[in-house]
Amino acid sequence: MTELVVADINGNEEDSRQIETLLIDLDDTLYQVHEAPELVRDKIQAYMKEKLKIPEEDIQKVCLEYYTNYGTTMAGLVANGYQIDFDDWHAAVHGTLPYERMLHEDKAMRELLQSIDLPKYVFTNADTKHAEICLRLLGIADLFQGVICFESLMEEGRRRGIVKENKPIVCKPNKVAFQLALEAAHAKAATTAFFDDSARNVAAGHAAGLFSVLVGKTGTECKADLEMLTLHDLRKAMPGLWKTPADSKHPPVVYARMPLSGPTAAAMAQGVPDMSADVLEEYRRRAIKVAAGE
Ligand SMILES: [Mg+2]
Repeated sequence: MTELVVADINGNEEDSRQIETLLIDLDDTLYQVHEAPELVRDKIQAYMKEKLKIPEEDIQKVCLEYYTNYGTTMAGLVANGYQIDFDDWHAAVHGTLPYERMLHEDKAMRELLQSIDLPKYVFTNADTKHAEICLRLLGIADLFQGVICFESLMEEGRRRGIVKENKPIVCKPNKVAFQLALEAAHAKAATTAFFDDSARNVAAGHAAGLFSVLVGKTGTECKADLEMLTLHDLRKAMPGLWKTPADSKHPPVVYARMPLSGPTAAAMAQGVPDMSADVLEEYRRRAIKVAAGE
């Protein structure tokens, strides 16, 4: 059991809690590949045009609306009556990514994760196959106690009667996804640290009582418990994960963030277009409020 000193993002408040479990997002959190979100966006938009026959001129708006209001573009499509073969969608959106070129063994990440003596789970909205390939190529697949992903969340949702006839899609930032993830990890919100590059997922995690960390170079205001540019900085940012309680009274490192000038990687990977910063900011703030239950 590790005691962690917690400050808010301005370093004002101090609090301490024991962290017993880590829930870590995959894309743009465990790895950051600049080209990936854009590739995924193009594939989503092509799928919507070619398979779902959505008029090309509507696609960007639909992506933005659905991503904002339902968590993922696919969740919005399903909620609005589109019949989607999930395997076909995932094969088209992720299945053709140039994984071998994009992802490489990350020895530093491996050493970092390996040195933390706590159970770790990947918590992603992506499909199992995508998660397995990414984790294998990064060389960290064996370091997690489990991968909580699209299939596992949907399966558990079906088992409990939350999901009927494949509706709704259970995904972050929805509260139920956090509940199911915590149960899958045999964890409690108050003693779990959650890492994600999506500000609204972090806002939702914070609202659900998890110690929620925003990871990445860009972001927007959200109620993160902590922010860091890259997960590689974890040792500096959360030394309490390694140290004994007596040694852990150091404030976490808080980094300055870059202002946003377009969609975040998380949004782009849902098909969200490169629109004016003002329009996106409005959607973003709304999405964060929705995710935080405000
Ligand atoms: Mg992500």
